[in-house]
Amino acid sequence: MKVTLLNFTPNPEKTIALSAKLCYSDSTVGELEDRVKGVSLEKFLGKILKMGHTSVLEHAGFTFGIEGVSRATTHQLVRHRLASYSQQSQRYVSPKANEYVIPPSIEGDAAMSKKFKDHASRVYALYREMTKAGIPKEDARYILPNAACTKIIVTMNARELLHFFNLRCCERAQWEIREMATRMLALAKKEAPVIFSSAGPACVSGPCSEGEMTCGMPGEIREKFKNLSPLPSS
Ligand SMILES: Cc1cc2nc3c(=O)[nH]c(=O)nc-3n(C[C@H](O)[C@H](O)[C@H](O)COP(=O)(O)OP(=O)(O)OC[C@H]3O[C@@H](n4cnc5c(N)ncnc54)[C@H](O)[C@@H]3O)c2cc1C
Repeated sequence: MKVTLLNFTPNPEKTIALSAKLCYSDSTVGELEDRVKGVSLEKFLGKILKMGHTSVLEHAGFTFGIEGVSRATTHQLVRHRLASYSQQSQRYVSPKANEYVIPPSIEGDAAMSKKFKDHASRVYALYREMTKAGIPKEDARYILPNAACTKIIVTMNARELLHFFNLRCCERAQWEIREMATRMLALAKKEAPVIFSSAGPACVSGPCSEGEMTCGMPGEIREKFKNLSPLPSS
């Protein structure tokens, strides 16, 4: 899996602070820069967010390039509606032979891993046979598995990212989307450390929200997200 932060609003936290300052001051737009100069972003943004004035977070956008993930995971990703997506098309692009994700639970079981790979080889061989026989890619792809690798570019604003990280960095989320979301958070946090300081599952900033489904490890999870830094590709 590879997650790249392709682009983001320049000075994301200053942009958010300017937007918040505008709401509570009689300054002109031109004077706002001076009004936020010397202001502690940590204190000012902390106060604004604590008040629940989270719409100001929508002024900062982040664009990620994601590759080497399965279609099973991007199917979950695109359920998040307040975002923009561009995904490699299976109608126009043929998958490379045997480009698929094997879940660690299967990879760790030698017998199951062999069966999985043998089955996938047959599926990809049938795909190639069909396209060679003139079946359009858009139809031949019906045979491809959920495990098929894909590439997707996603843009979310900081408000939606906080919501997304809350749901998808949690141990309750599926392992692959959790890894993807955690990688995205590490990259976003580097550029906007104040906004994303408490980002992650609910237990990072308060009690666990999962009730009986709790993973029971809030201490470890809190520590993990406190020390998060960008991860190398896997
Ligand atoms: C652990 C886990 C298990 C899941 N299991 C399943 C499952 O079994 N089956 C399944 O179908 N899905 C499942 N989902 C997906 C889940 O139901 C959501 O579709 C997905 O997480 C997107 O989140 P969202 O709807 O909060 O947010 P987004 O689409 O990211 O929207 C953000 C927020 O905007 C608001 N919003 C957006 N659109 C509307 C709207 N139309 N009306 C009102 N408010 C809106 C809501 O407050 C929402 O929380 C699962 C998700 C998780 C994290």
